[in-house]
Amino acid sequence: MALRATRLAFFDDPSMLDAPTTVLCHLEEEGARHAIILDSTLFHPQGGGQPADTGFIAVSGYPGLKFIVEDVRSKNNGVVYHYGVFEDNQNTHGIQLKEGQEVHLYVNAQRRNLNSRLHSGGHLLDICMQNVGLSYLEPEKGYHFPDGPFVEYKGTIPSDQLLTKQKELEIEANALIATGCKVSAAVVPYDEASELCGGILPGYISKDSNPRIVRVGSNPGCPCGGTHVADIADIGSFKVTKIRAKKGFTKVFYTLDS
Ligand SMILES: [Zn+2]
Repeated sequence: MALRATRLAFFDDPSMLDAPTTVLCHLEEEGARHAIILDSTLFHPQGGGQPADTGFIAVSGYPGLKFIVEDVRSKNNGVVYHYGVFEDNQNTHGIQLKEGQEVHLYVNAQRRNLNSRLHSGGHLLDICMQNVGLSYLEPEKGYHFPDGPFVEYKGTIPSDQLLTKQKELEIEANALIATGCKVSAAVVPYDEASELCGGILPGYISKDSNPRIVRVGSNPGCPCGGTHVADIADIGSFKVTKIRAKKGFTKVFYTLDS
């Protein structure tokens, strides 16, 4: 059967961590691992430098049956695959969920919160780079996993400024966290999106699309499909652990207090 793109319900209300939906397809993979495709999902797939949400899926009509969601990936034009196993506390061998089966999704709140804080930390860092006189560095990519998050920028900081800038960035980030600032996200028409982002959008965004634009306060926005804190204050505290500049690129590593 042709699979249609999964509706990303976490865009509607990022604070919603549980919701009902229905199964479109259930694939049995090698061993005990399964893949479930749903009509809509609250699970953020791995992507944009952000790890996947985890959690579980309860199946209506099967009391106590839990499908443990271990990994979530978006592929084939937006079809979201929920990979995992049935909890091993009952005989689940041979279970086959049919199209239309009602289920209830439960996202692991702790992991979502950490992912959102780490990812939002990347946006915060981008703003701080502007505020400490490093706006000539262009953000290239972010890695927002807990094991050493960083943002990589095109361009380099002179080596004699690395330590000063590391300190300035950290002071600026914590000052912004202390003040607090709302984070907003909206799916808008291309022209409006371009305006929100200071008049230019990256070339990979189709002019026919309605991009999702994320903004921290009144700072220029950027296209982003990640999950975010509601307010920059929710990041807690921010430490710039290292700046590495080489071969025309600068990586700024950071951590958050847990
Ligand atoms: Zn984002």
